[in-house]
Amino acid sequence: MTRPLRAAIKLSALRHNLNRVRMAAPASRVMAVVKANGYGHGLERVAAALSDADGFGVACLEEAVRLREAGIGQPIILLEGFFDPDELSEIGRLQLDIVVHHEQQLGVLERLKQSLSLRVWFKIDSGMHRLGFPSEQARSAYARLTACDCVEEVRLFSHLAAADDRRSGYTRRQLNEFMDITDGMKGARSLANSGAILGWPDTHLDWVRPGLMLYGISPFAGGVAADEGLQPVMTLSSRLIAVNRCKRHDAIGYGHAWVCPQDMPVGIVAAGYGDGYPRHAISGTPVLVNGSRAQIIGRVSMDMLSIDLRAHPDARVGDEVVLWGDGLPVEEVAQHAGTIPYELVCAVAPRLAEQVETD
Ligand SMILES: *Cc1c(COP(=O)(O)O)cnc(C)c1O
Repeated sequence: MTRPLRAAIKLSALRHNLNRVRMAAPASRVMAVVKANGYGHGLERVAAALSDADGFGVACLEEAVRLREAGIGQPIILLEGFFDPDELSEIGRLQLDIVVHHEQQLGVLERLKQSLSLRVWFKIDSGMHRLGFPSEQARSAYARLTACDCVEEVRLFSHLAAADDRRSGYTRRQLNEFMDITDGMKGARSLANSGAILGWPDTHLDWVRPGLMLYGISPFAGGVAADEGLQPVMTLSSRLIAVNRCKRHDAIGYGHAWVCPQDMPVGIVAAGYGDGYPRHAISGTPVLVNGSRAQIIGRVSMDMLSIDLRAHPDARVGDEVVLWGDGLPVEEVAQHAGTIPYELVCAVAPRLAEQVETD
């Protein structure tokens, strides 16, 4: 038996979730965000499954090159723009869209000697305070950008800081700020990430930019995919590689962090933080053994974790253990690990992912 850990990627669920985006934002075009190796799901296979998207958002030139080499012809947007002027000739050759978010990038485009015709997404800071021109500089920067010889088309965008909170007033403030700043500027507008697509219809504008929801994960704290009509795409599963009959007071794993309250069976699963399973998952984090729930006990090690099998007296070496996905929301596992589902799926080792077709 080879090591049994795998991340099954269900392509039909990706397509279902893209349809869910279309239903939520019927008047907008869709930039599918596939940065970070398609949120850990595999860049090329995700883009191929989402071939109906109107464009793709990536974090860097390397990801864009992989998409073009895989035959993706739609617009590809470099969400952080270029990091070095040397990238611009490749950007031009591959016809990539760039984000311009900083004065320094603007200066490079103004001084550019090459003849390029770039499509630029002009990024404005409407309240996230991470990337983008602050409101007081936006007008002059926009004028400079549109005057650049190498710039053929300008689009307008900004990013929301709290769209995953349906009760926060901050999203409406950012929307108003963005519309005020861009008043009179020409170009398609984009603001909405997954939380805003599902929770804030007024933010949809010309282009929406879903990431997390495409992978079948709820952006809302305490929510799960099914609440939003989404289907989980990744199922991370492994198998029991040992079943131990432990005695009362036996301590389990590193630091003897969990002590058996009675004689009991303990299962060892081939999955650990070296694979991307979070080390911070606490005792009590759920898993599925042969389809029904059990709990992690003790500390997660690099390639293994331990589970309480008291409710599964018949469990045997070789039995399947689901760590998240089908039947076990990754959102719930993330809560037990003190993190967000984004971090869990992005951290899964790329070699584990395997596509599965279920149509
Ligand atoms: C990552 C990213 C998104 C997608 O956000 P989700 O919360 O995953 O939907 C959208 N826009 C930008 C600029 C991003 O960097």
